[in-house]
Amino acid sequence: MHCPFCSAEETKVIDSRLVAEGHQVRRRRECAECHERFTTFESAELVMPRVIKRDGTREPFNEDKLRAGLQRALEKRPVSTEKVEQCILKLKSTLRATGEREVESELLGNLIMDALKELDKVAYVRFASVYRSFEDIKEFGEEIARLGD
Ligand SMILES: [Zn+2]
Repeated sequence: MHCPFCSAEETKVIDSRLVAEGHQVRRRRECAECHERFTTFESAELVMPRVIKRDGTREPFNEDKLRAGLQRALEKRPVSTEKVEQCILKLKSTLRATGEREVESELLGNLIMDALKELDKVAYVRFASVYRSFEDIKEFGEEIARLGD
């Protein structure tokens, strides 16, 4: 981290705290040369597990795909973009918190369903009906009935 005042390479961290719900590190630094102080915002290390698909192939976690899936389920529903983004952040931190290098796509699907259940029940049913391809209409009905609880 170069000093923005004199470009010296050596700077000392004098304070460090997590911000943006733990997604960024705010660091107060002091230059060893000119002793100017400055603040940096650094991204916390974001290691997302890879996703194991049903056919056994692996693919990198794709945030755009997740967002598109949520938006499709939430189409014309009264849910703000901000809520959707919060949901994405939460899903990502849950995935990171597993500490796994790879997770089954089923786990991801279940996390999304849980998140949608909180967010909007109609969107949840839409997503679940596609994702889980309910075995029969009875099962689907039971799931909807459970939403009434
Ligand atoms: Zn300096």
